[in-house]
Amino acid sequence: MTHQPTGAPRVAIVTGAARGIGAATARRLAADGCLVAALDLDESQAAATSAAIEADGGRAIAVGADVSDAAAVEAAVARVAAELGAPTILVNNAGILRDNLLFKMSDGDWDAVMQVHLRGAFLMTRAAQAHQVEAKWGRIVNLSSTSALGNRGQANYAAAKAGLQGFTKTLAIELGRYGVTANAVAPGFIATDMLRQTAERMGITFEQLLEGAAKEIPVGRVGQPEDVAAAVAFFCSEAASFVSGQVLYVAGGPKA
Ligand code: NAP
Repeated sequence: MTHQPTGAPRVAIVTGAARGIGAATARRLAADGCLVAALDLDESQAAATSAAIEADGGRAIAVGADVSDAAAVEAAVARVAAELGAPTILVNNAGILRDNLLFKMSDGDWDAVMQVHLRGAFLMTRAAQAHQVEAKWGRIVNLSSTSALGNRGQANYAAAKAGLQGFTKTLAIELGRYGVTANAVAPGFIATDMLRQTAERMGITFEQLLEGAAKEIPVGRVGQPEDVAAAVAFFCSEAASFVSGQVLYVAGGPKA
């Protein structure tokens, strides 16, 4: 997959790129030829990802920003444009969990998840689309989840991840005329630090969680961050210009 149709490399921002799916996606897009801004809450954490990309011969910068902070987002996108060029690829991946059964879920648990997933994706997309529309080319990929279909203990997260699907489809409708596509990737069980919290909450080890999950997944294994990165990379590619408003489940089977 190439991102250099006219010689000029595309510039991609990946949020939540310090680890997990975001780090794998940043590395994959760099391997595909993009200049990459690895954005995360803490710039020094994101620097591990940008350093890995540069060690592999790519070009990347680390950017520290909270995606739910409007001023920080504007400044981060402006910095990327100044240092790498207009960001025309945006992967909204930053995410948090605040799981609890509904009757135990606090206002803070609800708000924190909405802030990062929904407000974060909104702010990042609003800032990036100005560059995409001007370039008359863009790719937006939002990280949804199989939890969008409903998941016990995740009323907040499921609502946010379903919300991202509606957000994605609306972006596709509004921005298509400017050469911008918007799609969502909805992973199932992917072995990242995020699920270590889930294991802790369940009172089991991470290994036990992985083993139990693998038994329920048709392909017989849990997902790896690179499995998701490959799907994101397809949506970001030149070849995917006629694919927009779609949700691709990457879950080793038809459902979670
Ligand atoms: P992860 O390992 O927890 O990584 C998430 C990253 O996002 C972390 O580096 C985190 O930084 C960063 N982040 C959190 N809040 C942020 C904010 N306000 N601004 C900027 N960055 C922020 O998660 P993951 O498993 O790779 O998940 C990535 C995405 O895929 C998420 O949207 C998640 O909901 C989705 N997803 C994951 C799975 C799965 O099974 N793992 C399944 C379906 C969907 P800190 O470390 O500093 O908090």
